[in-house]
Amino acid sequence: MNPTCEVFCAGNAVVDVLARPVDGLAAPGASQPLEDVVLGPGGNGVNTAIALARLGIRVALAAPVGEDRLGEILRQAVRAEGVDNSNVISFKEGRTSVSMVLVDSSGERRLLHFRGANAHFSARHLNWDLVKGARLFHYASAFALPSFDGAPLAETMGRARQIGCLTSMNPCWDLSGRWLPLIEPALAYVDYFYPNQEEGRQLTGETGLRAIAERLHQAGVKTVIVKLGSAGCYVDGPEGGFSCPGFEVRAIDTTGAGDCFAAAFLAAICRDSSLIEAARFANAAGALATLSMGGGDSAPTREQVLEFLTNRAGRSGAGLEREPGPYIGRHRGS
Ligand code: ADP
Repeated sequence: MNPTCEVFCAGNAVVDVLARPVDGLAAPGASQPLEDVVLGPGGNGVNTAIALARLGIRVALAAPVGEDRLGEILRQAVRAEGVDNSNVISFKEGRTSVSMVLVDSSGERRLLHFRGANAHFSARHLNWDLVKGARLFHYASAFALPSFDGAPLAETMGRARQIGCLTSMNPCWDLSGRWLPLIEPALAYVDYFYPNQEEGRQLTGETGLRAIAERLHQAGVKTVIVKLGSAGCYVDGPEGGFSCPGFEVRAIDTTGAGDCFAAAFLAAICRDSSLIEAARFANAAGALATLSMGGGDSAPTREQVLEFLTNRAGRSGAGLEREPGPYIGRHRGS
């Protein structure tokens, strides 16, 4: 039993360099001015672990970095947030992963990505002694850690469930374009799955939210949560499906909003909230994460999310007056 970890989070680790505004690139040899540059912790594994810690959840992170200065920065950054970093592994074979995020004037992002050490991280690097006793096992980076694709991911999720954890998975964009076959064997062991709508379409060939969820249920997922950007989310679980509208905010940068959303949903599940409460809490955390530049660094604390929800509840024009639900569709029994 590991008393220090409620959620064990496995995923990628990246140093993000965000620059804005970049509406185009200067000619070769020329330079162009930026209004803002931020360097900070990133990658779905790191972002999710930091967000969980800020939401008051005891979390251990399993992730790869290079044996280099950036790797040390990432290791310290998560430690400073209170994340157990004892399963963050330094690889000689690859340098720490870096993403250059070019944010245009409207907040849209373009990503230049160096995979680095993430290519070397595999299921055999997970410390199962840390998983034992965790309430939840979260795999934050489906498709971003190629060694997990296929059977290793299915074995990992199956083992986590066998140990007694609730299981959860967040997909990334599949650069290989293969999508569902790489993760379908694992989905049989997944309680909560968080695609955005376009990822849902790529995975299932469906465009409608209920159809996406239905196909993923067929693969074995218990509760499908489709992230919908400013529109909030659609949740489809054992009781049926419901939409939960997003909060109106002046978004500056959406980097890490999806990870923060997933972390907040999991934090609510850890605190025995209902799916509706979890969706609302996660929408609030996701919205708050868009208010500043950066991945992990833009995650709000639990107090900030609760204050935001309280303020919005008392305000007309945006927020909680747009109620989630009602449940639609069949009742699959619980
Ligand atoms: P991903 O980055 O994985 O595609 P989204 O962009 O859908 O995920 O963001 C995740 C969640 O964050 C959304 O479901 C929503 O709750 C919140 N969110 C994202 N963008 C905005 C926005 N512009 N305004 C309000 N909430 C947002």
